[in-house]
Amino acid sequence: MSDSRPRRTFAVISHPDAGKSTITEALALHARAINEAGAVHGKGDRKATVSDWMAMEKARGISITSAALQFEYDGHVVNLVDTPGHSDFSEDTYRVLSAVDSAVMLVDAGKGLEPQTLKLFRVCALRGIPVITVINKWDRPGLSPLELMDKIQEQIKIRPTPLTWPVGEAGDFRGVLDRRTGEFIKYTRTAGGATIAPERRMGADQVEGDDKDVWDNAVEEHELLDLDEANHDQTTFLSGETTPVMFASALQNFGVAQLLDLLVELAPGPSTTEGLDGAVREPGDEFSAFVFKVQSGMNTAHRDRLAYARIVSGEFDRGMVVTHGTTGRPFATKFAQTVFGRETTSVEHAYPGDIIGLVNANALRVGDTIYTGPKIAYPPVPSFAPEHFMTATAGDIGRYKQFRKGIEQLDQEGVVQVLRSDLRGDQSPVLAAVGPLQFEVVEDRMLHEFNSPIRLSRLDYQVARITDAEGALGLRGKRGCEVLQRTDGTYVALFTDQWRASATARDNPEILLEAMPAGGA
Ligand code: GDP
Repeated sequence: MSDSRPRRTFAVISHPDAGKSTITEALALHARAINEAGAVHGKGDRKATVSDWMAMEKARGISITSAALQFEYDGHVVNLVDTPGHSDFSEDTYRVLSAVDSAVMLVDAGKGLEPQTLKLFRVCALRGIPVITVINKWDRPGLSPLELMDKIQEQIKIRPTPLTWPVGEAGDFRGVLDRRTGEFIKYTRTAGGATIAPERRMGADQVEGDDKDVWDNAVEEHELLDLDEANHDQTTFLSGETTPVMFASALQNFGVAQLLDLLVELAPGPSTTEGLDGAVREPGDEFSAFVFKVQSGMNTAHRDRLAYARIVSGEFDRGMVVTHGTTGRPFATKFAQTVFGRETTSVEHAYPGDIIGLVNANALRVGDTIYTGPKIAYPPVPSFAPEHFMTATAGDIGRYKQFRKGIEQLDQEGVVQVLRSDLRGDQSPVLAAVGPLQFEVVEDRMLHEFNSPIRLSRLDYQVARITDAEGALGLRGKRGCEVLQRTDGTYVALFTDQWRASATARDNPEILLEAMPAGGA
């Protein structure tokens, strides 16, 4: 491979407002500043681009695009994959998580664990993604650090192993105790907007003045953690049993350098990936990648379609012809791009861990594998159990053609799941979503992108189970239940409530009723 720099591909996840955008920008700017200062070749003027990205998110209110921010740090290539930032529980987040090797979880020191924090931790556990936890906003009053650790342990059932410990309570952030060296990393406040917060490392014996009391307190708590054996262990971190914790203030750039260092030191890079049927690819093997997100309408002029793929193995060279696993057909990659906010640039080469955007990728679907060499197919990106259901009809009958086309497109992109049955007919498919905001995206895009206003009306179902053709027959006529089919052919049984789903399963043991991974609740 011609680029041997190790990769770190991760996502920052959090409950909204915990500081995801702030820390993303801080990480990128910090790396850039270091690169410039250290004469490591920077990658053009990233500053404007980063701000653009944020501006776009703000203008839209919700971030619908998802792209990877790539920068170099300490000899590594860091790929920060963006996740949607809105408060709704969206399937997009989970797809993005299938493309990363680790996650950074931000927790707001003042608010503690919030609903999305818990859900996201659960999804990481489900997918086996190691998590580094950052307690953010330590510059503001908040909970006590030991209390926060207890909450993580109790509510998430993952053992927190702090690597740093705050010196000064929340709202009085003097710095941190580096639990591995016993040193004090003292922060100095700078005027707002500086990219690097000055840090000074000193031994315990050098701590003086009004820092002394709060330092002693931090040492005491550190010793308590020691007694409790709450110390970092790389094996249990990688297996998801423990989460290293650090304390930061993204707004003041405190802890940002440490987070980058931790990512480089501890976060896993790309590794051996299992395909279906026992096939395996090592990062150094021939090229393979899987699509984790498909998006259209980036360029409204020609409604191009972009498929984001995560490289699993081998080197990608723009122009190479790969095999599209699902159809077995060749796929030309002349138009591969790195996508970053509004800016797209052609990518010439990319490596395991990197994210590429493939333009005009009309044949590619979420979950598809592309490869060279022997056939490989990666397991499908899991779809989460929908809990909200609506029937959709064309708001303007004269635009039925546009309606059909729009629904088909949104289905392919995975904006919602589309369910159909002979009974309901094609004029009014059922849309299924994990979070209600997905419906708003559908309404908006149907109107503006496909020129077909859409009428949605709520269906009284709350629970979905996977069944099969026999199950569909067996369930016919049962009350509070309806079977429909996803576009991929999967039979989905909808129930009015959990009770009915359980009772049906109990009374009809011969009928397949399989739960999907739960997202909500
Ligand atoms: P996101 O929704 O997770 O992307 O959160 P943002 O990055 O947009 O931050 C939400 C709000 O919290 C903004 O007003 C930020 O300025 C503020 N914020 C982010 N990090 C910090 C921090 O470390 N300290 C303080 N005091 N405010 C912060």
